[in-house]
Amino acid sequence: MSTYKLVCPHCHGKMRIRSSDGTHIFLRLAYLQCTNEVCGWSCKAQFEMTHELSPSGMPNPSVQLPKAPLSVRRTAMKRDSDNQMDLLEAECA
Ligand SMILES: [Zn+2]
Repeated sequence: MSTYKLVCPHCHGKMRIRSSDGTHIFLRLAYLQCTNEVCGWSCKAQFEMTHELSPSGMPNPSVQLPKAPLSVRRTAMKRDSDNQMDLLEAECA
């Protein structure tokens, strides 16, 4: 399984997460900073869990996300094989 790094939209450097807050079980706010010293861009970001692609082996009854529609599943499958630069870029572990 590969991990993901966050890519700075300005210089395409690696962004690091300075701090993050969980405001909801499905939502996390994060403060990001570019690690390129010349760039130094920082921003606020949020990560939201929006759809279930496959069920948990240890399901918590209080966790209810909508099942991903076919279009979302297709996008998830496509992204597994994509190598293009993006905000979330695959990083070889
Ligand atoms: Zn940058």
